[in-house]
Amino acid sequence: MDGKLIIFSAPSGAGKTTIVRHLLTKYGDKIAFSISASTRAPRDGEVNGRDYYFISQAEFLHRIAKKEFIEFEEVYAGTFYGTLRTEVDRIWASGKHVIFDIDVEGGLHLKRKFGDRALAVFVQPPSLEVLKQRLYGRGTDSDEKLTERVAKAEKELGYAGQFDVILHNDDLDVACREAERLMLDFIEKKD
Ligand code: ADP
Ligand code: 5GP
Repeated sequence: MDGKLIIFSAPSGAGKTTIVRHLLTKYGDKIAFSISASTRAPRDGEVNGRDYYFISQAEFLHRIAKKEFIEFEEVYAGTFYGTLRTEVDRIWASGKHVIFDIDVEGGLHLKRKFGDRALAVFVQPPSLEVLKQRLYGRGTDSDEKLTERVAKAEKELGYAGQFDVILHNDDLDVACREAERLMLDFIEKKD
């Protein structure tokens, strides 16, 4: 089997984690999640080695030097996130495709690197106002972090046109069904 990449990118709060989790629950026999490394602190309920590999900045920089990342970014000032080469290799070796929940620039980076082997999906919220409501409603970030995320979101919404497809996340059930269709069409497509 030729392993593929299914990339879900969007500004924070658009709903990509929710959609990716839905796909993993339903299609865990076909896809597995690329667990990123991050230097941010775990949120309540997050588990090291399931949601992220939570590592220190010193370890992150060491891993950059050892060229362990396919891509990495300082997504927010002082907070690094990156995709480990070993994750993608591990998942492909298990006979599954890799699914990513990754920021907009990281998603485009992977798409440029892997071309037709990757499907890059931009999750589009109905508006910036709704995005803010979702972020605030999620209740996981401090006021300072929320302001930073909203400022970045305004810029990221402008990148939608560079993705293979835009997935509108207005009604969550509709968006999940559409995500399933896009993913299944892509992984069943012959090269
Ligand atoms: P992201 O991973 O893009 O940052 P999340 O998946 O964490 O976004 O979603 C942000 C918040 O919005 C969560 O509280 C989630 O439950 C909620 N949410 C996601 N999609 C929808 C939707 N279509 N309608 C209403 N709320 C949603
Ligand atoms: P959060 O802190 O909300 O979990 O994630 C913040 C942002 O970083 C999200 O847009 C998320 O998709 C992104 N992200 C997570 N992992 C990676 C990664 O490996 N690389 C990049 N470039 N972004 C990532």
